[in-house]
Amino acid sequence: MEKKDPEIITEKGLMRNWSRSMRAQGKTIGLVPTMGYLHQGHISLIKEARKHTDLLVVSIYVNPGQFSPNEDLSTYPSDFQGDIDKLMALPGGVDVVFHPYDLYDYRNNGSESGENDTSKIFDAKDEDGREKAVVSCIEERQSGHETWIRVERLEKGLCGKSRPVFFRGVATVVAKLFNIVEPDVAVFGKKDYQQWRIICRMVRDLDFPINVIGSEIVREDDGLAMSSRNVHLSTEEREKALSISMSLSRAKIAAQNGQVSCRELQNSVIQAIQEAGGKVDYAEIIGQENLEAVEEIKIPVVFCVAAWFGKVRLIDNMEIDMRVM
Ligand code: AMP
Repeated sequence: MEKKDPEIITEKGLMRNWSRSMRAQGKTIGLVPTMGYLHQGHISLIKEARKHTDLLVVSIYVNPGQFSPNEDLSTYPSDFQGDIDKLMALPGGVDVVFHPYDLYDYRNNGSESGENDTSKIFDAKDEDGREKAVVSCIEERQSGHETWIRVERLEKGLCGKSRPVFFRGVATVVAKLFNIVEPDVAVFGKKDYQQWRIICRMVRDLDFPINVIGSEIVREDDGLAMSSRNVHLSTEEREKALSISMSLSRAKIAAQNGQVSCRELQNSVIQAIQEAGGKVDYAEIIGQENLEAVEEIKIPVVFCVAAWFGKVRLIDNMEIDMRVM
């Protein structure tokens, strides 16, 4: 297949125009949202999306809304030109890289009182001093954003416990990407299992006409789940971090051999990670669909783990399906 340069679009209006003109020509569009610093995990999503649509958009946007002030936004790795080179090297390439500078205006962040720029809108008076009944969207554009999407139950557990603003940031920006790109298909990695399920639920609840596909986790040869953050691991930390995937694999085999007590399986994973020097954030076995904790493995479950090695927080998971047990 020929190599091609992706068109790089930074303006949301231009992005929407591109999508609409392609759709008018009868083309279907796939979207793979990413935060860049692309690796084989991202590439697998792109290859998956290629199977389903005529055209492909990859978004590269480090979303500040999903980071708390104490998290690693400022050190999140990026290499835009390297990403473009990787995309160009792909058979078939990608059609557009959507690289917006900003998708959300955080001016109002944290303000519960409404004492911010939006007050100007509601103070707007007509010439007789009466409050205007209709406020134009142009005026609203002068103030910061304040609308968030929350997938209320699914966002609470797992990563939501230690990263309370994470999923509202993800869901809101993904909804914006969906509104701007208007894709037919969007592909997300099961590496971020809770995120994938939250996006599926948002799409269902808000009637986005988009088919959301979950794509399998891509691992390094030794089992470590690929992640942009792995670059921050020292050689020693990286070695120790293998305890996550190794203990998950052992737990999966134990479950498939009939060990159904989740407490025992969870304890074995926690112990292995701690012995390797990691700090476990959570190790939970939950239903694949509803993400609710189970005591015994009787339905298809997913064993989800988050753990710190040094300053790097890693997540991983393994699905355990009844049909292969
Ligand atoms: P990120 O750039 O980390 O926000 O990830 C963008 C997309 O790539 C998300 O849907 C992730 O779940 C997915 N992804 C990241 N790492 C992997 C991996 N190792 N395997 C499969 N998908 C991944």
